[in-house]
Amino acid sequence: MAGSRRPVCEDVIMLTNAELAELAAIPGPAHELERALFCELEAEHPGGHLAQAQAAGDLEWWLCWQPGTRELVVPDLCPATADGGDTVCTLPLAHPGAHSFGLAAAASPNSSTPA
Ligand SMILES: [Zn+2]
Ligand SMILES: [Zn+2]
Repeated sequence: MAGSRRPVCEDVIMLTNAELAELAAIPGPAHELERALFCELEAEHPGGHLAQAQAAGDLEWWLCWQPGTRELVVPDLCPATADGGDTVCTLPLAHPGAHSFGLAAAASPNSSTPA
């Protein structure tokens, strides 16, 4: 339903130096690395938190975390679309909660893209 977007989790985590080094080694990165990542799933979702850390080409690196465990993964992405295919879900395959296009826009740490 348009106009009833759901809130985003926005749980925050800081990347470790080892994770930053791994991400910095990715060739052709899509954006600047951010040490602070915000969970992009629907608020009060079950399971671990997920935030995109970096992207390059067709691949995306996501950090999956919950208390006591964290892991960088390169997941398949959710195939869901809206608006006749013009809008795609930007979350990993089988994510819990609403698709990204059903969520309220979070304050993106990556929104300022230098030209
Ligand atoms: Zn979360
Ligand atoms: Zn989705």
